Amino acid sequence: MKAYHKEPIDAEFTPIYDEYLRTRYHIEVDAPIRIDVGRGMEDTEWNPLACKEVYAQGIKTALKLECSSCLFDLSAAAELGQAGIDAAVEGIYGGGYQKRFAMTNQVEPSLKCYFCPEGIQPELPEAVELARAIISVRNMVNCPANILTPSKFSQELLAQTKGLPVQCSIYNKEELTQKGLDALLSVGASSENSPFLVVLRYNGAPDDEARLGLIGKGVTIDSGGYCLKSQASMAGIKGDMAGGAAVAQAVCALAATGAHVNVTAVIPICENRISRGSLLPGDVIGSLSGRTIEVLNTDAEGRLILADGLTWAIREENCTRLVDVATLTGAICAMLGSVAAGVMSNDDELYMKLQAAAELSGERYWRMPTFPEYERLIQSDFADIRNTSKDGCGSITAGLFLKRFTEDLPWLHLDIAGTADTGSPVWQHQTQGATGAAVSTLFHLALSLENH
Ligand SMILES: [Zn+2]
Repeated sequence: MKAYHKEPIDAEFTPIYDEYLRTRYHIEVDAPIRIDVGRGMEDTEWNPLACKEVYAQGIKTALKLECSSCLFDLSAAAELGQAGIDAAVEGIYGGGYQKRFAMTNQVEPSLKCYFCPEGIQPELPEAVELARAIISVRNMVNCPANILTPSKFSQELLAQTKGLPVQCSIYNKEELTQKGLDALLSVGASSENSPFLVVLRYNGAPDDEARLGLIGKGVTIDSGGYCLKSQASMAGIKGDMAGGAAVAQAVCALAATGAHVNVTAVIPICENRISRGSLLPGDVIGSLSGRTIEVLNTDAEGRLILADGLTWAIREENCTRLVDVATLTGAICAMLGSVAAGVMSNDDELYMKLQAAAELSGERYWRMPTFPEYERLIQSDFADIRNTSKDGCGSITAGLFLKRFTEDLPWLHLDIAGTADTGSPVWQHQTQGATGAAVSTLFHLALSLENH
């Protein structure tokens, strides 16, 4: 995105008061094509989500018309302040995204994008960093698992911190064994590609004791293990690291924009395959917390590695608030589809902050209950806890499993299994495949915790 200084352009785009997303273009001789997209008839319909979609529709139209340059009028976005500019730029990058397997050359759409008016310049850096972060997550999630192995994923996350004030540590199998991350190691033992733990630390508020811990699931391929997934459920198993990618990029965006907040991303990374080393149903394993876990479903592996991630965030990184982010359960897709992510929390105030952040990011989250009666469903006869429910409520019991490892710190659990990846896009800024879910909401959530 560049400021416009009277360069020759193929098209100019403006959101107008009209039926939502109605698109018209006007072609005149010796003048740029004028693209108009409806933003709704009234201002009440205008919010970051709508803004994202309208600008995405703008770039999609410019690409369809094979324009090589387009001027985007961001005045309508600016009515919503910084969140509006963030949304518009995310919409432009997202709508222009063309999925490829390669991880390079994906940041800019193949269309020269200019913006006006110049006055919104100060809002641009944050918006561009966020959009880049989201595109980066989409690239990683779309990347095939034979290319993005645990070791490559770890190295990629390290590479992404280059030039940023982020400290990145990668712990290998030997170090994890020494530390006792039994749950992560048990899942990782299913593959010759051994597991890693990646930690990204950003200290934006050195005088503040508070530290936000973002724990993201990084299963680079999830076959289900011996509890093998059905053929239909195999679609998208390469994207089971979407939570890990999202928390890493949220930290990068916070660091790049100099946010005044301390935040640490903890990303347990492994594969879940079938081999001699794989877990079998009925196995009992340990964990970094010291708790024992009865594994009754080898496809419920995400919560095992996240349990160790949570304990690490608390005991090794001194995090004071926790957010885990994972493509965790198929059950959440059955309940909320690709429209909203499921949330659980033990802290109403933190949950309210999440909702406020989601308003700014234009994403949807929906809270599930943590009634104590559900706890019985994960009671084990052989270990401290079991990894699947005795009777339904799969998304809730997955969250409650993780709650046991939060040591009573304020905690949010985001199940993005339905929103991280989509076969049929819900909104214009999405394309088939990865969506970059949660990055923007985590970013705004962290900002809202500044100086508290
Ligand atoms: Zn699984």
